[in-house]
Amino acid sequence: MALCLLPASALSAGEKRVRILIFSAAKPSAVTLTPAQGNTFVNGLLVKEPTVISARGALVTAKGMTRAAKSLRVDVSGKGAWLACPSGSKRLFRGELEISSTGGRLKIKAAVPLEDYIASVVSGEASDLSGMEALKAQAVAARTYTLKHRNNHKADGCDMCDSTHCQLFTGFASVRPEARAAADFTRGEVLTYKGKLAATFYHSICGGRTESMIYVWPFEHKPYLVSVKDGPERRPYCAIAPAFRWKTRISLRTLSVIARAQKWIGPDESVRKVAISERGISKRAAALTLYTGAREVRISATGFYQGVGRRAGWNAVRSTLFELNSGRDYLILEGRGSGHGVGMCQWGAEGMARAGFTYRNILSHYYPGTEVSYE
Ligand SMILES: [Zn+2]
Ligand SMILES: [Zn+2]
Repeated sequence: MALCLLPASALSAGEKRVRILIFSAAKPSAVTLTPAQGNTFVNGLLVKEPTVISARGALVTAKGMTRAAKSLRVDVSGKGAWLACPSGSKRLFRGELEISSTGGRLKIKAAVPLEDYIASVVSGEASDLSGMEALKAQAVAARTYTLKHRNNHKADGCDMCDSTHCQLFTGFASVRPEARAAADFTRGEVLTYKGKLAATFYHSICGGRTESMIYVWPFEHKPYLVSVKDGPERRPYCAIAPAFRWKTRISLRTLSVIARAQKWIGPDESVRKVAISERGISKRAAALTLYTGAREVRISATGFYQGVGRRAGWNAVRSTLFELNSGRDYLILEGRGSGHGVGMCQWGAEGMARAGFTYRNILSHYYPGTEVSYE
């Protein structure tokens, strides 16, 4: 590192920012910072070469530093700098980063201009969509979601994390121009219900009808997160999605292993049969009953979807909208849609955009009773 003048802030004054926890799932103990174009500073010192930043217990150090510090401030202007994990995943950033350490793991916080963040989230969360009005609807939903859920990672000193736990954010290397245009066109626009920011949940494919939130999560009812029919009978807007239908076979042996690991059943029990015991308004499974032979165990369908997804892969059970057929030692799930089914159906938004609807039509279809306001 060479001594240099302190940089002017990479962000213009007054611009809204969001603080994002970076590599929140990987939690690396070291990262490599590589300047792209423009200037990169670590604690005010210009960095020209790839620089390893690593955790030392509660302190953090960068190659070339004589003493470890409580935290490092990284300022990146111009095109940005790459931040790479030892696992190989790397992200391009601009703006300000603060890097500290807890228990030998780096805690990387990025302060990013809100609209740059939205453009990146639209690229990552709606990578399959191409309709401009669908992308605009996604931009408004993502912006509203961000501002509404700012307390998600308060304990970490951040607004959001970079994983799908909050919204997928993979930096600025692959922001699509259409996503940038969608963010710019809707700049500052948010959805409100009775003057308050709406909880704009969204998912990939509803399968024909979105689900009322109360059947999916135990949160307080929201009048705009109700089940809506996604288009004409037998021709839902999201039917254009390549993965509209899915089929999965799970052996009862595998399911028993998952059920034990999830503590749905005891260590000596096995699943002999499964049945859907309750359905929501959209006909999604709301609750399932597992039969062990000796007893019946009722579990929530969301718990089943997450538990199986976590252990058998997220493609195994793509949604809770499925029919169950049992064989002697296996189950066949035949389903529609992908994701939790609450709020905006992204592929439905794409279908509506292709059918000529505007992004405002799309938003009021999936979030009835809300309106577009300005933050
Ligand atoms: Zn999160
Ligand atoms: Zn749909």
